[in-house]
Amino acid sequence: MGCFTHTGTPAIAVCKTCGKAICRTCVIETPMAVACSETCARDAIELHEVNQRGKKLYGIGIGATNKLPSLLIFYGLFTIFVLGTGVFSTVRDREIDYASFGFGTILVIFSVITYRRNKDFKIQM
Ligand SMILES: [Zn+2]
Ligand SMILES: [Zn+2]
Repeated sequence: MGCFTHTGTPAIAVCKTCGKAICRTCVIETPMAVACSETCARDAIELHEVNQRGKKLYGIGIGATNKLPSLLIFYGLFTIFVLGTGVFSTVRDREIDYASFGFGTILVIFSVITYRRNKDFKIQM
């Protein structure tokens, strides 16, 4: 295999970004990969960074899933608080506090969804 730019010169590597064969004169080495041009080198670095970021995001995802029970406790306490406020103002004003009860209902739904997701996750393990 010869160099893509210098016909006749044997290639020593293949560009990580575009796949062209590259010779000793053309090769640009980045900490992660070899490239045929500055543009490809920059792309290779960017690609590497995106991959790293992706891995980090994945890590955060796992952390968030493990924290679900504490999130559930938070939802539970918040629901009790909101519904408690609803009952309190209903008794105080002798008028149903639809806002608090509505919000409380939404929180209950949220808690159930969070609980279900947590359960699904455990089953998958
Ligand atoms: Zn290239
Ligand atoms: Zn070359």
